[in-house]
Amino acid sequence: MSMPSLTLPPFEAGSVWLVGAGPGDPGLLTLLALHALQSADVVVYDALVDERILKLVNPKADLEYAGKRGGRPSAKQPDISKRLVAHAQAGKRVLRLKGGDPFVFGRGGEEALVLAGAGVPFRLVPGITAAIGGLAYAGVPATHRGMNSAVTFLTGHADDGDLPRDVDWEGLVKGSPLLIVYMPIGNLEGLSRRLIQAGRKADEPALLISRATTPDQNVVETTLKTCVADARTGDIQPPALFVVGPSIALHADLDWYGAILKRATKEKPS
Ligand code: SAH
Repeated sequence: MSMPSLTLPPFEAGSVWLVGAGPGDPGLLTLLALHALQSADVVVYDALVDERILKLVNPKADLEYAGKRGGRPSAKQPDISKRLVAHAQAGKRVLRLKGGDPFVFGRGGEEALVLAGAGVPFRLVPGITAAIGGLAYAGVPATHRGMNSAVTFLTGHADDGDLPRDVDWEGLVKGSPLLIVYMPIGNLEGLSRRLIQAGRKADEPALLISRATTPDQNVVETTLKTCVADARTGDIQPPALFVVGPSIALHADLDWYGAILKRATKEKPS
């Protein structure tokens, strides 16, 4: 694809681009991401990068998997960072491709620090993070006048698998009407219990959004009290988000993508 009116920065040999691939839908890639996909010599990608996006990689580039799930052996973080440095020092254009945004629960900061420490030139290309893409495709405004003026992204999963310990739950529950929890599934019971304990109502509506922005997007309406059972019956699979807050109420009226998916299912010849 040519973009004559745009002057995109050259992808220099011997440099690393840390690029966010967005939550799934290839249409949500940035032009810089597409440019990088087409000019990289090697692409080191994570499990959450959509397969349709990998098809946009220059066929001459080497594709290297560095994910941490899906039954494949997991790559350790220091090994990935070392690999990026080695490729760059060998004079390659290295594309480090991550789901969503590299700096949102993506360890982009850790990798960038190693690159900076090794004197490897790098660029950070932001991507649409799962929370922003997921809310848009579920028809839930991240902010809405009169409903919520503050939004929080948090993780339901610390390194040891527990809820994160460095979160002020009481402060969060009181101060942020809309909470969007990444990696909620393993700890959904503890997470919802903690939110109730910290002051949210047990019958407060919540939303589970799995595989957001893909043709398999699955949105389940639930409450803090019933989310574990509803996740099971609604067949919520990771990757998924857990959303709590008043603007969820708008989902029923604004579910444009759900309507498209429903139409597509109806039109499919059986
Ligand atoms: N850097 C990524 C987040 C990686 S952490 C970003 O900015 O989006 C992995 C978590 O992201 C998953 O457990 C899930 O909570 C969320 N996630 C990523 N892609 C998703 C998708 N398509 N649908 C729902 N949640 C997603």
